[in-house]
Amino acid sequence: MKNDDDVNDEFEFKPLYSNSPKEVVLLYDELQRNKKEINEHKRKLEDEVEQRTNELKLANDKLTQLAQKYGLTGIYNRRYFDENFGLFQQLAFRNKNSLAVAMLDLDHFKEVNDVHGHLTGDQCLRLVSETLSVEFSRTTDLIARYGGEEFILVINQISEKDLLSKLDKLRVAIAELVIYNENQQSFKVTASIGAVLAPASFSRDAEQWIKVADLCLYKAKNSGRNTVKLENFTELL
Ligand code: GH3
Ligand code: MG
Ligand code: MG
Repeated sequence: MKNDDDVNDEFEFKPLYSNSPKEVVLLYDELQRNKKEINEHKRKLEDEVEQRTNELKLANDKLTQLAQKYGLTGIYNRRYFDENFGLFQQLAFRNKNSLAVAMLDLDHFKEVNDVHGHLTGDQCLRLVSETLSVEFSRTTDLIARYGGEEFILVINQISEKDLLSKLDKLRVAIAELVIYNENQQSFKVTASIGAVLAPASFSRDAEQWIKVADLCLYKAKNSGRNTVKLENFTELL
């Protein structure tokens, strides 16, 4: 924003001679007033442009945030998970519930991209996300895309038996997806899932849950992929 000094500096009238005729003095004053009005108007316009620019920037930031949130797959992103896991954990803790965290990673996904192209890979990620949303649709479930071809699930108050059966149903649903590449050739994908089930009191820290889920995911990958591995702490703690 410009201040009065800047504005006045731009238009400097030379002082009148002391013996100038009255008409000239009047005209001079009139010109001075007009000049001041024009400058004020100019300053207001500049302020308005600055305000509009700030508003646009805010709107843009919001759009970027939304894109991050829903992006390619239409489900929450990692940032949303990081910011909201605590709420899910606290709610479960207050109700003395169990909590499960599962990591799902698509198998040999690099090969999917290499063989069928990146766009088909993206389409595959969309279909997997839809399947996740269908299989875990309770409002107390949290599903997010954790990284490239990795997804995270947080499930409130569930038994080991139900958790295993739901995760296996998800695994099968993904394995049964029929995906088409750009040449209309169909192909399949599979996913490996690692999960931890524990009383919500296990930890307030998402990292502690993810560490165990990741270890299970590692076991699932090592035992041939397209499988679910679970660590259950509910009886121990
Ligand atoms: P593994 O079974 O061990 O998980 O093998 P992988 O090939 O799935 O694992 P790797 O980590 O080697 O490769 C992951 C691939 O996922 C590589 C990367 O190009 C792909 N990927 C990550 N994000 C995206 C994305 O947004 N779109 C597409 N099309 N591919 C992605
Ligand atoms: Mg991965
Ligand atoms: Mg993978």
